[in-house]
Amino acid sequence: MVEEIRNTIREQQGKDSGMIFVDPDLEFVNEVAGMSGDSFKKCFQCAACSATCPISPDENPFPRKEMIWAIWGMKDRLIKDPDIWLCYQCNDCSAVCPRTGNPGDVLAGIRNLAFKYYAFPSFMGKWLSDIKYLPLLILFPAILLLLVMGATGHLTIPEGEIVFRKVFPHPWPLDAVFILASLVAAGCAAVGAMRFWNDIRNSPVQRKEGHLTTFGEGISATIKEILQHSRFSECEAGKHRYYSHLLVFYGFLALFLTTSLVCTGLYLFDLQTPLPLLHPVKVLGNLGAAAFLVGICLMIYQRLVAAEKDVGKSSYSDWFFLWLMLTLALTGIFSQVFRLAEIRVLAYGTYFLHLVSVLMLFLYFPYSKFAHLMYRTIAIIHARIPVSVSATTIAADSSSEAA
Ligand code: SF4
Ligand code: SF4
Repeated sequence: MVEEIRNTIREQQGKDSGMIFVDPDLEFVNEVAGMSGDSFKKCFQCAACSATCPISPDENPFPRKEMIWAIWGMKDRLIKDPDIWLCYQCNDCSAVCPRTGNPGDVLAGIRNLAFKYYAFPSFMGKWLSDIKYLPLLILFPAILLLLVMGATGHLTIPEGEIVFRKVFPHPWPLDAVFILASLVAAGCAAVGAMRFWNDIRNSPVQRKEGHLTTFGEGISATIKEILQHSRFSECEAGKHRYYSHLLVFYGFLALFLTTSLVCTGLYLFDLQTPLPLLHPVKVLGNLGAAAFLVGICLMIYQRLVAAEKDVGKSSYSDWFFLWLMLTLALTGIFSQVFRLAEIRVLAYGTYFLHLVSVLMLFLYFPYSKFAHLMYRTIAIIHARIPVSVSATTIAADSSSEAA
């Protein structure tokens, strides 16, 4: 009741004076400081960062405004700010900041907090952002796979030629576990995505980029931008991060395509695995794995180098995702190497670890840094289709479809 009266008085005073009342969330300020360092509080709003950022638009630029919101502890406004997702943490802005405020790191820290904020169920956001839950996060998929293998009589190391299907058969139980995990993760991710979309549609930060007028135009421009990494390529100080990001992105796409082709072959054409090394699908998979591994190693190296400096800080969420992807790449490559070298125990053991890491990637997608793929895509679409335009054109699109 007291709080209600206080809010009414504030609202009234705000209307009369044109002032905005700020309720600083000190816990949030400390969380940002924990991720990006304390120096962001020294920002004196000179705007050199916004003027330097190659991605920031002229109208309502970032990251200067986010810096003052962070200092004031305006959590609600920052978490729902679509602009934080347009930033690639290249740190061009941090390089020119006269107060060592590291705005690039501040935005990266806020993005990590947003994963937690939009997590569904919410406890998963907490688990993924705290190292003390790491053993649980690893054990859960490992035990799940062991239980399924035990229950279906596959908990032994088979004799004869090393064929992973003998221990982890398609379609049951292997595909069933992974399809179920993907559906659960997709459902939870969809909840977070819808919350985020509703929030940014009502955010005070709205964009009108590219003069796009229909939903379809916005989507195709977004896909083109993601495939080309066009915004990222404009960064200077973090140019090296652009190349490693490209390698990981296209390596992952190649691996995804390989898995899809193998699954289609298994279901529709009774394809027998393992495929010969020179089979086109195998070549695509191995090239993808190599690009993915090189990209991840570069990313880890770049973050380790940055850790020595004051700029380019990495949080636990960053490291969790990077180490998970490295494990994924190494176990995938080495399970093949051990299979070809006919080292039975190592081949099956490494393949089991590979499946655990794939399951972790699927299950924890909505809460880990992997989800930046989803939130950034939504933010770019939002930037391409401003609220006023999207509301009218989407309605027009649907009514013409209905007609
Ligand atoms: S973060 Fe640095 S460059 Fe940006 S407004 Fe603050 S002091 Fe200026
Ligand atoms: S880190 Fe790079 S993309 Fe992000 S605000 Fe700074 S200059 Fe812009």
